[in-house]
Amino acid sequence: MVECLLDLPNELLQHVLRFLPGRDIVSVARTCRRFHGITQIEAVWQHKCQQDYGIRLAEQRDSDFTYQRLYTRLLYQFGHCLGLWKLGTSSSLFGMVVHIKFDSGQITAYHCRAPFSGDVRDPLNVKTELFRLVMSSGGGRVHCRKHTSAEIKVVSRDKISYRCKECLDLQPKHLNPFRQEEFMAFWREEMETVELVNRHDVMARILSVAHSTAFWSSYPLERVSVATHNPLSPVRLGLYKGTYGPHGIELINLTVASNGHTLLGNKLTGDPNVPAGQTSLFLYLKCPMVLGMREQESADTLKAIIPEIQSSVSAVQPASCQPFILSDDFELDAPTRDGLPIQLPNTCRARYHAEGRIAGHGYHNPSMCKAHFIVFEEDMFGVIWLDLDSFSLFCRVKQDLL
Ligand SMILES: [Zn+2]
Repeated sequence: MVECLLDLPNELLQHVLRFLPGRDIVSVARTCRRFHGITQIEAVWQHKCQQDYGIRLAEQRDSDFTYQRLYTRLLYQFGHCLGLWKLGTSSSLFGMVVHIKFDSGQITAYHCRAPFSGDVRDPLNVKTELFRLVMSSGGGRVHCRKHTSAEIKVVSRDKISYRCKECLDLQPKHLNPFRQEEFMAFWREEMETVELVNRHDVMARILSVAHSTAFWSSYPLERVSVATHNPLSPVRLGLYKGTYGPHGIELINLTVASNGHTLLGNKLTGDPNVPAGQTSLFLYLKCPMVLGMREQESADTLKAIIPEIQSSVSAVQPASCQPFILSDDFELDAPTRDGLPIQLPNTCRARYHAEGRIAGHGYHNPSMCKAHFIVFEEDMFGVIWLDLDSFSLFCRVKQDLL
């Protein structure tokens, strides 16, 4: 019979420690010499790093690295910052998506941007560093790209705010993107290139780059919760890149509405018409349709189709297939790397009635545009904006950003 916790063998005590939060392990260490000894065991901290933050390291590490240090000097303070974040609502029309990830012994925040090639099928550009959270003896420290004195304020579990006072003080009040020398120097530094790869979305990028500089010294972030699998959805949920005509590629988060039969495409990045934070797409799974070639002949034949609402949503069968053609009435604003338009498939797996949000500059007079939601693959779909005579292509972000 065990009368005291200390009668247990070290192996068992070590096991018990695994169930305690990191903070309590530190407290236990202070109670007596034997507990202190047990809490110094690396396996305990290795387990905590993995259990609490999913961090498992490769064998290659610095000689002074310990899991205990990683946990107590970095993760304990900043571990909750890991994951996918967006710029706090109403901070900016253009929005910003930030991936904060554990990376060779530190935590790094990267700006997730549309593929620089202009091709929506390419991976996001996740190279530009915004800030770093690093270990130090007095706990974690925040480094901006130039200074070591930045700070992260935790507002709540899902809201943090970043600030570098030195950058704020140094920042030119207005960066004028139309003064060429100043702009090109800035472009070289930020984009690691002087080439404007694709004329197509240069204007959109200039605007968003010029705009985002205002946020590199101080900005609020909100956690992005990415939906998990839903058996009724004909496409996978989560982050998608979409072509938004002259605005270039924007990022949306595809989720299921609370009614269970409408998919919502919420904008993580936006444009001067429909800003970040607004819902761009409403895709009605209760209104499927199967169209022949004749009905797809022109914008007029498509507009003449009346939606029929079914009583329930039926899942798309893997083998289902119907013809697809995009009439010349619609502008396909989806270039490849070479600037040529993307070749769309001539079949699709499913098609539904939908609506999309449109608005004037500054989100003036928002209204709904009738649309068709066309499922090509589980990771790729199209939207025909019937009232705008245009077509957007959406491709899922396959990079692991969680
Ligand atoms: Zn700074």
